[in-house]
Amino acid sequence: MFETVLSQVPQNVQKPMALRISPVAERALRAGHPWLFSDAIESQSRDGAAGDIAVIFDRKNRFLAAGLYDPYAPIRVQVLVHGRAASIAQPLFLERLQAASALRRPIESGGTNGFRLVHGENDGLGGLVIDRYDRTYVLKLYSAAWLPHLQALLEALVAVEKPLAIVLRFSRRLQQEAPLFGLADGDVLLGTVPEFGVPFAENGLRFEADVIAGQKTGFFLDQRENRKRVEALAKGRRVLNVFSYSGGFSLYAARGGATRVTSLDLSDKALQAAERNFKLNEANGAIATVGHTTLRGDAFDLLGDLAANGRVFDMVILDPPAFARRQESVSQALNAYARLVGLGLGVLQRGGVLVAASCSSRVAADEFFAQVREAARGAGRPLSEIERTGHAPDHPIAFPEGAYLKCLFAYAN
Ligand code: SAH
Repeated sequence: MFETVLSQVPQNVQKPMALRISPVAERALRAGHPWLFSDAIESQSRDGAAGDIAVIFDRKNRFLAAGLYDPYAPIRVQVLVHGRAASIAQPLFLERLQAASALRRPIESGGTNGFRLVHGENDGLGGLVIDRYDRTYVLKLYSAAWLPHLQALLEALVAVEKPLAIVLRFSRRLQQEAPLFGLADGDVLLGTVPEFGVPFAENGLRFEADVIAGQKTGFFLDQRENRKRVEALAKGRRVLNVFSYSGGFSLYAARGGATRVTSLDLSDKALQAAERNFKLNEANGAIATVGHTTLRGDAFDLLGDLAANGRVFDMVILDPPAFARRQESVSQALNAYARLVGLGLGVLQRGGVLVAASCSSRVAADEFFAQVREAARGAGRPLSEIERTGHAPDHPIAFPEGAYLKCLFAYAN
């Protein structure tokens, strides 16, 4: 069914390759870790191409694990099978997709048909994300290792989910570093996609996801539960949603009874999407009548300007993009969070609600929460915590690095 569009992609025909690895990596894989880094490989039976099956043996020459080889990434093998040998092919993909689908079944009620179907490693399919917006599925690859298996994977997806449309996305790193064999980010592999995005529902609110060119796969599904928490705290408050993207938090705040909502983002396109999303929900009285305004620009500059102009809000949401893309930049990221919290508190009424999120996987939850508390104390605005949270349940966590999202809800005194 996908032969034409995938015609230039090499199929996996090589025999499996054998790898021997360091004792430390051996321990990690034995414990079920899904990554094998390039520097942990001690020897390999041959050079590997993207998507080759890599079989990893232990000191005593026994089968340890198997996965997909990626010569372009530091995560050299996405390990899919641990402990007992199993063939890495369509039946395995099918089985993992069925398990992932079953896990999400409870989410698909209550007015929600946009959620993450496959959360990579955490669903046994490392290097791969599948997000679902109603009957449109966005398959995002983070590893070139999937390319020769794409057809098998797509057929399995069709069998399990019966999609009306499928869109292919590639991570930025992949677009820059690996050959994509005629494929491109945003390719529609099945069906069609409407111009402004795919309409879907989340907790009874309507949104459009720009699945072709939007950030991530078009929407930040991981914040679903945190948006509900914002809704529950918004009544009677003037809300500032910083790094708003397409207005997710803004719409929940409006429905929750906020008196005014301001969405702030660097991207014009994101703010236009936010305005369209408000229009889509005009049937809701609270959303139709709230004063929603947008502010375009750099958050660090604009927060300073707002404070200088004496603007005050009763709830400030800070949900910036990942600040630490590399391990070396963790301390810079922590400094940036501290600055941001200081600036956010500069426009927050005493006793108002601060919502501070971090999606940098390299910044540990404890470090982040401590930094936010410290920054608030330093600004003379100690926090009374309401809750510390993470991802929505369609983003299960199966290994330590899988826990990237942390979010703090607090009153700022
Ligand atoms: N809170 C959003 C997701 C935020 S993603 C949601 O729930 O959907 C991060 C957003 O920050 C993106 O929309 C990006 O355009 C914006 N952004 C990145 N750098 C920024 C900056 N310096 N100032 C303001 N916005 C920025």
